Amino acid sequence: VKRIGVLTSGGDAPGMNAAIRAIVLTAAHHQIDVVGFKHGFIGLLQQDYQPLMTHHVDNIIQRGGTILKSARCPGLHTVEGPRHAAATLHELNIDALIVVGGDGSFRGALAIAEHYQGQIIGVPGTIDNDVDGSDMTIGYATALDTALDAIDKIRDTADAFERIFLVELMGRHSGYLALAAGIAGGAEQIICPEFGPLDPHNLQHIITPIQHAQLLRGKASYIIVVAENSYPGGSSALAEALTNAVGVECRACILGHIQRGGSPVGADRILATKLGAFAVELVINGEHLQMAGEVSGTLQGYPLAKTGDRSKAIDPYLVRWQQQIGRN
Ligand code: ATP
Repeated sequence: VKRIGVLTSGGDAPGMNAAIRAIVLTAAHHQIDVVGFKHGFIGLLQQDYQPLMTHHVDNIIQRGGTILKSARCPGLHTVEGPRHAAATLHELNIDALIVVGGDGSFRGALAIAEHYQGQIIGVPGTIDNDVDGSDMTIGYATALDTALDAIDKIRDTADAFERIFLVELMGRHSGYLALAAGIAGGAEQIICPEFGPLDPHNLQHIITPIQHAQLLRGKASYIIVVAENSYPGGSSALAEALTNAVGVECRACILGHIQRGGSPVGADRILATKLGAFAVELVINGEHLQMAGEVSGTLQGYPLAKTGDRSKAIDPYLVRWQQQIGRN
């Protein structure tokens, strides 16, 4: 292997820079050149790239975002897109491509693989932690801390104004972030897809615990953490429905893109360093269509094609406990 390409794709995640750094430093150690494609797969389609030397990755391990930029790339969904991307890789003599992103990005990588003669390796980078084959994804730990910081602050204002707050967190169709942030933030209720779909015509199981809390404890603040896509019309519509049902003002706070930003926490820097370095080792070992993952403390390759199977469950112990104490 003489030359590898790297790109960051999909939603950006804190720690993507640390992964790029590890890839470049590990490749340099093995006398392998690295080319960085800009704006995810768009860089492949538009031949927008730059050589990545070790000095390019100085002083980036602590930075959020990604120096290569990230993007969604509709062009890759066309018939011509993946063929075109593969042609760029052949033209630039890229022996292997490393894609840092979520399972959507890995589906894009698989589409390119149909036309590409080289190797393709994935590195899981998404705050959603919804990728099979690695216990944690790069960015999740930082996003959890960001969400907690916000929940703690909202608690203060909820307490002062005696309001009910719905805090909506990201996660696509996974409740990983919502469950963890809800538990660690001491939320009174947690709503996430794994607990089953919400029926707008039957919200009594949410309303009753709020009423109990008000009657029994005279509770001043009440926080419900909601995973995005949990309610038709979004969290604002749910807040309105609850306000009408309970008679206490219920506000929705949608954290949104704040969760993607910020300097990666230590755990994300370490994970990104390990998975980035391991991805290069997988390339050197001749692996193809594998994702670099860490399961139970062991680095392992995992078939890219299975990363979106959604077989990784949210922590069953926490789910059971949350249900036992009646807070979901
Ligand atoms: P995150 O979940 O953190 O946002 P992701 O990698 O899952 O990250 P997506 O938007 O699902 O994000 O995918 C990123 C890009 O991957 C898409 O914009 C598209 O270019 C490519 N892609 C996704 N699915 C496919 C597919 N089935 N065929 C070709 N390309 C795809």
